[in-house]
Amino acid sequence: MAQFMGTAVSDDLINEHIASGDFFKQIINGLDDGVYIVDPERRITFWSHGAHRITGYTPDEVLGQSCADGILVHVDEGGNYLCKEGCPLAATMQDCQHRSCNVFLHHKDGHRVPVRVSASVIQDRFGRTIGCVESFQDQSGTQADVERIKELEEMAFFDALTGIVNRRYVESTFASRFAEMDRLDRPFSVIMLDVDHFKKFNDTYGHETGDRVLQLVARTLSCNCRPYDTVGRWGGEEFMIVATGTDQETITGLAERLRMLVETSSLDVDGENLHVTISLGVTPVRPGDDMKSLTNRVDDLLYQSKEQGRNRVTYCA
Ligand code: GH3
Ligand code: MG
Ligand code: MG
Repeated sequence: MAQFMGTAVSDDLINEHIASGDFFKQIINGLDDGVYIVDPERRITFWSHGAHRITGYTPDEVLGQSCADGILVHVDEGGNYLCKEGCPLAATMQDCQHRSCNVFLHHKDGHRVPVRVSASVIQDRFGRTIGCVESFQDQSGTQADVERIKELEEMAFFDALTGIVNRRYVESTFASRFAEMDRLDRPFSVIMLDVDHFKKFNDTYGHETGDRVLQLVARTLSCNCRPYDTVGRWGGEEFMIVATGTDQETITGLAERLRMLVETSSLDVDGENLHVTISLGVTPVRPGDDMKSLTNRVDDLLYQSKEQGRNRVTYCA
């Protein structure tokens, strides 16, 4: 007989609880990771509390829907949409192999969240495939936690609309990065970006919807940068990222990934899916640079991206 808070609980009662399935549901709902189950038609039959937390979608909104309908509209690193072709669940259902990969899911608020997904097949006792289970772990990088946000608010370093740090904080980051570079020989790079044709977007859909787009872009940026990079709102619809390291491939790769993730994000406004793109400039710090020369250079590069047709990255060493 097991004891629970001083009360005796019979083994029969425990076994009955396990057999009912509630036992496993409680375990799965207690996990930080998201878990969902699909049937052979890829219709969602179970959606855990973690899945709700990470995606913003409640069970009511997803149960019974096919994951191929593109609720989560996974994209991979290359910006390819996986729901129609390349779905890890569909592949696992085909070959019964367990697989894991890194993808970006679509949050209910529109932004892109990096997740590590794993898919395994579920079989009945005769070995017939009756579904598939996918678990996913949130890999968000610089998303500030509640404590950090409070601290930043107190220091007036926080942008209330977008939930990321403001220009004043980015400027203080520049100061410490320049000092670090001199003292520790630790160079850095900057990425500056601006939302394309945002005025037209505001004029068409209203300022409030425009605000939601800025929130979506800010979240996509902050979820998908590394924890030691600083992502801030520089002004209106401009953002600045101060990134560690100067390796061209790494920083242009980061900029290109952010461009793709914003392009593949969408905002649901009264059933219409709205999209925006961003133009970016990328440059590493040069010997003799100060904040002014560095931000002027990256601003010029961003302007070149606009000139060349927008929704692109321009780099200069
Ligand atoms: P481009 O592709 O050349 O960047 O064109 P654009 O329309 O994005 O650029 P422009 O600078 O002409 O317009 C920027 C607009 O951003 C104008 C301003 O009303 C809007 N904006 C700035 N801050 C905010 C804000 O906090 N919320 C909203 N909704 N709009 C903002
Ligand atoms: Mg602008
Ligand atoms: Mg703009």
